[in-house]
Amino acid sequence: MTFLFNSDARRGAIFADAFAKALPGLPFSMDATQVDPDAVRYLITWTAPADLARYRNLEILFSIGAGVDQLNLAAIPDHVKVVRMVEDGTVRMMQEYVLLATLALHRNLPAYLHQQRQGIWSPMPQKQAEQRRIGVLGLGMLAQAVLDRLKPLGFPLAGWSRSPRDLNGVTCHHGEAGLRAMLSATDILVCLLPLTPETRGFLDRDLFAALPQGAALVHVGRGPQLDQAALLEALDSGHLSSAMIDVTDPEPLPAEHAFWTHPKIILTPHIASVTQPESAAQAVIENIRLHLSGRDPIGLVDRTRGY
Ligand code: NAP
Repeated sequence: MTFLFNSDARRGAIFADAFAKALPGLPFSMDATQVDPDAVRYLITWTAPADLARYRNLEILFSIGAGVDQLNLAAIPDHVKVVRMVEDGTVRMMQEYVLLATLALHRNLPAYLHQQRQGIWSPMPQKQAEQRRIGVLGLGMLAQAVLDRLKPLGFPLAGWSRSPRDLNGVTCHHGEAGLRAMLSATDILVCLLPLTPETRGFLDRDLFAALPQGAALVHVGRGPQLDQAALLEALDSGHLSSAMIDVTDPEPLPAEHAFWTHPKIILTPHIASVTQPESAAQAVIENIRLHLSGRDPIGLVDRTRGY
């Protein structure tokens, strides 16, 4: 029985150390050429290796990241459990980023940065937090953690998911009708949806039109969820005020792309949340223990939903 680590060596060394302490009986390898493929029961990776089929006894494929959209789920044998990364470091970083982004947009930071570059000193009217409604697309692990962190700030909070949810202090919506209701009452929209066939191109012209005049966008889901031309149109027409964008398609954007210099956009290079190797190793170790005791690992992906 072997655990195969297929990612960068720096993180691998941290995993190797944690595994040696916590699961000394489980051989750990970072070199696919040196393992007996039949011995590999667990694999952690970002994308599935082309020769995945050689690991005939693979039981769990762990994604090194919080999403699984980079994996071709159909190409992974049905008996293999696919598990996404659910670990405290990722959650904390996403809380920080969305807090940063919502406060930046709430306090008109893109406009003030633009003014600064032009040498303009000109205060703008400022809404209070209770007048700025935040709506989150997705009410999963990250969205719930983010909403918890936003609560003390006094923004009215709402969220939208596929299935009904009930969260203290958050107006929860679901389904198509729920989406329209939330959008019409959202001043800062945060996208924390997984990338699936249903959410590809989701942030489009119709969705932006359903937001109130002057609304803003925080995009921390996945790049292909955003129709970039529709966002530019909504910003340039003045319907949307600003956006903070962490994920794009492609990554990085080409040098001439409008997002780099747009005065209403703050762009970051997919850094909202990055898997932290120390806490990630502990999460994977815990999941192996759950699996060995016959229970489902945390973050088990539902292949039919794609997330
Ligand atoms: P999660 O726990 O799986 O939650 C996903 C949420 O989205 C659930 O509430 C789900 O609804 C909802 N959802 C999915 N498809 C939907 C649809 N078609 N219509 C309505 N709601 C839908 O995921 P998570 O851990 O919170 O992570 C969310 C995503 O964040 C990841 O998939 C990844 O793409 C992104 N992410 C980005 C970064 C970054 O650095 N920018 C880092 C980490 C993760 P139900 O509750 O009904 O299932």
